[in-house]
Amino acid sequence: MTCFMCKGRLENSLSTFMTDLGSCIIIVKNVPPQVCRQCGEVSYANDVTRQLEQIVTSIKKTVHTEIAVVNYVDQAV
Ligand SMILES: [Zn+2]
Repeated sequence: MTCFMCKGRLENSLSTFMTDLGSCIIIVKNVPPQVCRQCGEVSYANDVTRQLEQIVTSIKKTVHTEIAVVNYVDQAV
């Protein structure tokens, strides 16, 4: 796969995904995005995006703290 910004090479990496829902901030650690070697653009594969959405949805229902920190690997189905 190549970068859609600069056509550089994408490498698998690990990063932290964070989303602010207003009443709650969700931090997902060890998310595996692909990062461009050339320009640093970060992109998530479709299944990773779907997994993140599922994690966020289930945390919204079950966790009632202001900040929730989870590990992507623990949550992945
Ligand atoms: Zn790039």
